[in-house]
Amino acid sequence: MEIRLSDILSVPNRVEEMDVAIDMAAFKNRGISYEITDMSPVHLRLTNLGSQRLHLEAQFMIEIAIPCDRCLTDVKHRYEIQVDKKLDVDKSEDDEDLDDINYMKEYQLDIDMLVYEEISVRLPMKNLCKEDCKGICSVCGANLNHKECGCDRKVADPRMSDVLDIFNNYFKEV
Ligand SMILES: [Zn+2]
Ligand SMILES: [Zn+2]
Repeated sequence: MEIRLSDILSVPNRVEEMDVAIDMAAFKNRGISYEITDMSPVHLRLTNLGSQRLHLEAQFMIEIAIPCDRCLTDVKHRYEIQVDKKLDVDKSEDDEDLDDINYMKEYQLDIDMLVYEEISVRLPMKNLCKEDCKGICSVCGANLNHKECGCDRKVADPRMSDVLDIFNNYFKEV
C-alpha cells in the first residue's frame, strides 16, 4: 500500500488523516516467517509543514507469534507502535540521515515497509516461553516442559556426540 505525498505537499498546511488496513499474514525477517496473529489498521496523520517537509504520525497495534528459542512453542508479542517523524521529503533520496528510512521514496510513502521496519527494530534478541523453559529433548524431540521422556541425554552436547561418533566409527572399522 503506497500513499502519494505530492498532493499533500502541494497544499499549504494540508493535514490528511486515514486508516490503512494492512494485508499481512506473516512477517518475514532473515529468512524466518513469523505469523501475525492480530493487527489493527495503521492510523496515519500526515501534515504538510511547508518547504517539502512532512510530519508523519502513525499508530498501530500488532501481535506476532515468535517461537521460543528453546522449545519452539509460539510466544505472542503484542506491540503498540507509535511513529512520530518530521521528514524532509525533498532530500529523501540522497540525505545520509535518511538512509535508514526505506519507506519513503520519490514522494511515495510505503505503509507496508513502514510497518516492516517498525517491527524489525522491536524483535526480541532473546525469546523464551518462560524463564526456566526446559527446551526439547535432543534425542526424541519431546517438549520437556510437558513431560520427561526418559531418554538418555548424557551425550546431548553436540561436540561430545561428535567425539563419540568418531570413537564408535573407529571401533566399527577395526
Ligand atoms: Zn520454551
Ligand atoms: Zn526424549
